[in-house]
Amino acid sequence: MSELDSPIEFLKGVGPARAELLRSELNIRTFRDLLHYYPFRHIDRSKFYSIREIDPDSALVQVKGKFLHLDAIGANRATRMVGAFQDEHGELMEVVWFRGITWLKKSLKENVPYVIFGKPGLYKGKIQMSHPEVESMESFDRPLKGRLEGVYSTTEKLKARKVDSRTIRKLVEALIPAVEPFMSESLPETLRKKYDLLSRRHALKSIHFPATTDELAQAQKTLKFEELFYVQLRLIQVKAQRDKTIKGNVFNHVGHAFNSFYNDHLPFPLTGAQKRVIKEVRRDVGSGQQMNRLLQGDVGSGKTIVALLCGLIAIDNGFQVALMAPTEILAQQHFETISELVENLEVEVSILTGSSKTAYRKELHERLENGQINILIGTHALLEDKVKFKNLGFVIIDEQHRFGVAQRSRLWKKSINPPHILVMTATPIPRTLAMTVYGDLDVSVIDELPPGRKPIKTVHRRDKDRLQVFGFMKDEIKKGRQVYIVYPLIEESQKLDYKDLMDGYESICRAFAQPEYQVAIVHGKMKPEDKDFEMKRFASGQCQIMVATTVIEVGVNVPNATVMIIESAERFGLSQLHQLRGRVGRGADQSFCILMTGHKLSNEGRVRMKTMVETNDGFVISEVDLKLRGPGDIMGTQQSGSLGFQIADILKDTDLLELARKEAFSIIDGRSEMSKQELDIVRNRLKIVMKRLPNWARIS
Ligand code: ADP
Ligand code: MG
Repeated sequence: MSELDSPIEFLKGVGPARAELLRSELNIRTFRDLLHYYPFRHIDRSKFYSIREIDPDSALVQVKGKFLHLDAIGANRATRMVGAFQDEHGELMEVVWFRGITWLKKSLKENVPYVIFGKPGLYKGKIQMSHPEVESMESFDRPLKGRLEGVYSTTEKLKARKVDSRTIRKLVEALIPAVEPFMSESLPETLRKKYDLLSRRHALKSIHFPATTDELAQAQKTLKFEELFYVQLRLIQVKAQRDKTIKGNVFNHVGHAFNSFYNDHLPFPLTGAQKRVIKEVRRDVGSGQQMNRLLQGDVGSGKTIVALLCGLIAIDNGFQVALMAPTEILAQQHFETISELVENLEVEVSILTGSSKTAYRKELHERLENGQINILIGTHALLEDKVKFKNLGFVIIDEQHRFGVAQRSRLWKKSINPPHILVMTATPIPRTLAMTVYGDLDVSVIDELPPGRKPIKTVHRRDKDRLQVFGFMKDEIKKGRQVYIVYPLIEESQKLDYKDLMDGYESICRAFAQPEYQVAIVHGKMKPEDKDFEMKRFASGQCQIMVATTVIEVGVNVPNATVMIIESAERFGLSQLHQLRGRVGRGADQSFCILMTGHKLSNEGRVRMKTMVETNDGFVISEVDLKLRGPGDIMGTQQSGSLGFQIADILKDTDLLELARKEAFSIIDGRSEMSKQELDIVRNRLKIVMKRLPNWARIS
């Protein structure tokens, strides 16, 4: 045990009571935890800045100068105080206050020397400071500080018990001399020289107590690089090891099923992107290694047919195929689509879901075990232990963000050699995130929509526009088109949500009366047969309107439906909205998406509506989504914040991430020019890091 592992209560100034507080409030248990509890920002009282030097990322800084003028703008509650502050070099900056206007009016004077101190920001492309502290030059008699000061985040409870940012700074001050001898180097000199990084010791000290802003920036860069480098190294290593040790079934033969389908039964020519992905999969499954591939493709990009063609290769090599979907409706639909596509081939397709009857199941289990069934489509029911394959070789998982890692590994156990796995998702995980979280999965992208698709027109309407929306629906229905109306359904408020849904359904039935109009309804509380019946009425065109909850979110395919109306759209997340919108725009006709909201919207809600109206591009949408929600949420992991990263921000630090990844690859590939001693540094550090890496890094 090194000094770093010492319990925090042994640090001078801590003691048992404070130790307990630090543990429960900040999860700081050891010397090491405190060392890595970095300030979230810094105060620079080391000098007076000129306005020209300031950038929006600066620490809190102080500037000497005067107000050329000060004006109270706006009426009543909207009043703000705006000052034009000029520094000693004649540069100008706007300063603004939204509170305390009366006091400011009384006490601030124009053309009198002041020192202002605050966090710079950017407003309309210019540097601005809001709510700075102001002191008259006369009374400002403090000496300049030698260094920047870190600001640490604390909690209300800590503050109440007198542990504020200043206290933590003091503790870190006491800590550093005690642990300094134990800070071992983590990055070889070659890397530090190449990327202008500090030694680890220097970086750790400087992140807490930087002498200058430049030193701070360098310390941050060093620690971010270190963090990203070791995470990437670990991920790449896992993948390399797996490629070496796990044998995959070799599909070296493309036979009758694939060829006859490809040559004679393809319903449309494949897009270039679809062909490319099939080639990528073919290369993988023929290689002798086990494939783990993530297939990303926006809604409607045609992932199903790609999956089927890959599945046919498995069948040609004597293996069975499983296709797992997140909902019963979707499984049903896949079953119908695929059964129809392979109608003229000698391929047996079956379905298994939670509502499959016992007698049917029994027979199915048998036919599955003796290999009569070639493709089994289903829901989570496929994971049950009773479901045994004769020779499962290929697994397709649709819309994987609904499946946990644990469930995936259960599928894995269903065959002797691990099957090849193709995970399909329309949630376009941003590249940086895919690289980090799925670092050990290969990624294929369908980045091209089938020809002739028109971008969906999206508008945002308020409840008061409802009559107009009804009118629009009638026009579209007159043209022979169909309409979806979707209501939110959130677990916690199920009762109210069902009421909304039923109220909505009734008012639609009144506005769109029989016999001219037929309205279908689908929601999660219905019996599967009833759901099925309603879906069929809609899919076959007997109904013009489908009222539903989000059960239709993924995958449902009715090309004649051209209008998607989303009720209480503000209650949906961006990726869900995008998924829902993807239910229309599947045919040649112009499609529309109408987002209905109440009058009041949160800022975030407004950003979501605006994003949807402005773009159809799933990648852009997921970037915005990631910024609004944070990556942990998108991946459905428990990790709060940024996937357990301490300092790196995978959204902002993409350049560093790519560099770190490049270096990690060259080490694993044996291309690195580092000396043996240097590689030992990496190896030793990796061992330490591995012990602390969060679970998500171990996918399978
Ligand atoms: P998703 O990627 O969202 O799962 P689907 O596989 O459901 O998309 O395909 C969406 C629609 O596009 C389906 O009706 C499918 O038949 C059609 N489609 C797929 N590929 C093509 C293509 N190359 N040309 C024309 N239509 C296609
Ligand atoms: Mg799909």
